[in-house]
Amino acid sequence: MSSSLTGAGLVAGVVGAPVRHSLSPIIHNAWIAAAGLDAVYVPFSPSEAGFAALVTGFRGGAIRGLNVTLPFKEEALALADTPSAAAQAAGAANLLLFEADGGIIADNTDGAGLLAAFASQAPGFDPTAAPVVILGAGGAARGAAAAFLAAGAPEVRILNRTVARAETIALSLGGRVAALGLDAAEQAFAGAGAVINATSAGLTGQGALEVPIAATPASCVVMDMVYKPLQTPFLAQAEAEGRRTVDGLAMLIGQAVPSFTAFFGVRPPAGVDVRALALKTLGLNERI
Ligand code: NDP
Repeated sequence: MSSSLTGAGLVAGVVGAPVRHSLSPIIHNAWIAAAGLDAVYVPFSPSEAGFAALVTGFRGGAIRGLNVTLPFKEEALALADTPSAAAQAAGAANLLLFEADGGIIADNTDGAGLLAAFASQAPGFDPTAAPVVILGAGGAARGAAAAFLAAGAPEVRILNRTVARAETIALSLGGRVAALGLDAAEQAFAGAGAVINATSAGLTGQGALEVPIAATPASCVVMDMVYKPLQTPFLAQAEAEGRRTVDGLAMLIGQAVPSFTAFFGVRPPAGVDVRALALKTLGLNERI
């Protein structure tokens, strides 16, 4: 927490249910302290029914803004007055800004975070060069598909256990998106420039996702949005096949950067190793 907070301080936060394990307060407060801002970033955990009341209560700018996490991202978009193009395309908001005139702006920085993660951990990756495969068809998959389409991907192939959910996203995002079942992974992986796990499979305590990574081209970059554990069985398999990999913590930090700028009007200061802080909080070591 910032030690220089005064009555004029700016307040932002993260809202989720649960929010107890969110890394966002650690990340944002480290940046606030390093930048010497008169500001603080706090967690909010309303009941699922209480989210709308919390958001409505902040109308008028009682606080500057909120990051939004599970399960409120879709509701956050619905409550906002002015959604950004990214939030509309993703069908969800992970960022709300409260304007002094009572308006609420919704944005989605998860897509930017995903692309930033590729830029930092797979330098030279070109999203326009080859089809992108996304595993899963929840909110995270939809946001990733929208982000890669906006970045110029020639085709996005969404593979999901429940094919109908992939079809719904394809219908909503348009012609360059194909919807398939997970059993079509081998054919979908052929020629792919990237494969992204946006399912919750691989989370600590859950089963791993079994897909034929070896069917991807040697140049394919493999990414997992899950970061608990940091090296999921999916990423371990990709590394064993010699593929370059990108982890979910890089995406989490990537989405926090534009959020911080939106809240406080300055970019996060350089020289703060928020990844090391996050890993320490998770009780994890850097991937080796
Ligand atoms: P949802 O609950 O909306 O979607 C979950 C998806 O996972 C569905 O497509 C579901 O398939 C699939 N799934 C779950 N278990 C399995 C399994 N055993 N085998 C195959 N498919 C499975 O979640 P979200 O879209 O919100 O999030 C997905 C993941 O991304 C989560 O782990 C989340 O923590 C992570 N995430 C990470 C972020 C980051 O910054 N690193 C940001 C956002 C999300 P079906 O439809 O068939 O049920």
